Amino acid sequence: MGRLIVANLLVFAVLASAAALAYYGWSYTAEVSSRERALVEDTMRELAEEKIIGIESQLVDTDNKVFSAIHIDRPFEVDKVVKDVQAPVVSVFLLDADLKPIPSGYFSKRPAAEASAFRERFLTQILPTLPLRDLPLNQRSHVHGVWNGEEHLFSFSHRWALGRDYYVVLETDLVHVIFSVLPQFFPRTPRLYQVVDENGDGIYGTPFREPGGVVVELPFVDTVDRWRLRVAQRDTGSQTARGRRKLIDIVLIGLALTGIVAGLTVLLLASRRERKANELKSEFISNVSHELKTPLSIISMFGEMLALGRVKTPAQAHEYADIIWRESVRLARLIDNVLDFAKIERGKDVYEFAEGDVAEVVLRAVELSGHRLQQAEMTVETEIEPDLPPVSLDGNALTLATLNLVDNAIKYAADGKRIVVRLRRDGARVVLEVKDFGPGIDAAEHDRIFERFYRARAVRLKPIRGSGIGLALVEHIAKAHGGGVWIDSKPGAGATFGLWIPVPDAETS
Ligand code: ADP
Repeated sequence: MGRLIVANLLVFAVLASAAALAYYGWSYTAEVSSRERALVEDTMRELAEEKIIGIESQLVDTDNKVFSAIHIDRPFEVDKVVKDVQAPVVSVFLLDADLKPIPSGYFSKRPAAEASAFRERFLTQILPTLPLRDLPLNQRSHVHGVWNGEEHLFSFSHRWALGRDYYVVLETDLVHVIFSVLPQFFPRTPRLYQVVDENGDGIYGTPFREPGGVVVELPFVDTVDRWRLRVAQRDTGSQTARGRRKLIDIVLIGLALTGIVAGLTVLLLASRRERKANELKSEFISNVSHELKTPLSIISMFGEMLALGRVKTPAQAHEYADIIWRESVRLARLIDNVLDFAKIERGKDVYEFAEGDVAEVVLRAVELSGHRLQQAEMTVETEIEPDLPPVSLDGNALTLATLNLVDNAIKYAADGKRIVVRLRRDGARVVLEVKDFGPGIDAAEHDRIFERFYRARAVRLKPIRGSGIGLALVEHIAKAHGGGVWIDSKPGAGATFGLWIPVPDAETS
């Protein structure tokens, strides 16, 4: 009992450890993959920052070059400055300290009519919204916005020269930015780049094909701050590979757990079977000892009577001697059974085959059982088919098998009063059937009845002693002859035990 509890605890411990291992395995891979993802994200963020800084510093640099190249006393030279610096600007406004346009201080790349219309719009609608007055001297600032449904980026600077304040406002050429500046920064690389506006609508680049992948998004700061840069990892299958790896992890962990559980189940079943076999063995030993003891005490009792001359008539002496002889035969058979069984268990080949007549063997066994049948007040009917072919057989073993079957009928079916021993040919087989009219055997037990040590439930409760090896021996003997055994029985309607042996080179007719 104690050992059972320890075994159960051990099983539980193994299962718990397996579950813990599976959990740690799983969480470790999950952690590794999330760390991997974080690392990828960090790298991409750094890359996005680098790109934004690159783009913006190029734009800011040209702005600053324009700011410092413009001279307030030569406003008409602005177009030359723009050309020299190769600044991506559409228009330039020079404004005085009161934010009034300086004469000749307007440059525009637009056609004339459009240029003057835009100047008008700038001065009346856009300029009042630009925070020029707050700007410290020589500082650059910008506003990226939408006016009248048109998107503009204005950079501006507060300057001082020749004893007067003035302001320079540049309108950046966004088309140039999109088609010339951005492509310089996004060459073909394993990553995908996209510039989107504040609504997420694409400005530059193609939409990402795998929306589930890692995407880092950062805003522009010093120039086009309505736009954001998106960087996605060009997932050369890494997304699907990650999914596949996860699946493999789950399958492997599942398989390992199943293996452990299956192993434990097999171990438990084996140990249960072993325990049962041990119980059966001890029961077998006690049964065999008892079976040995009964004939021995009878022999010793009647032997003593004979030895001490406690017999009145020669007939009585004859009867005692007969009893001693019968019991010693029974004893010998029992010992034969046990010894043969032991040999079989050790895997030794115990048979000696020779061509023989099954009918002769069966009749001898029936004859040997005559006394016991008589004692049990039973009759035996033998139905032996004439002219049975000779078969290869071990006479002693086959006699033992038949004796076991007849003995069982006497032991368990004495109430039926009758035994039929039938021997016939059935095609390529010689078939022996021992039929009784006793209690029979439950169908549920038919599969196990030929197992060693197995005793039917019905007899375990009765005082009928037995070792549970008789039928196992019968089956072994039949199989050793290349044949087999079967049982046909219904509870209450008797039992028929059958044994067949193949006929060598038989024409199946
Ligand atoms: P044993 O007779 O020593 O118990 P066996 O292997 O010969 O062992 O038989 C196994 C069991 O099969 C018996 O214990 C008994 O329950 C059952 N059995 C065998 N023969 C018969 C029979 N003719 N009628 C009913 N039960 C039988």
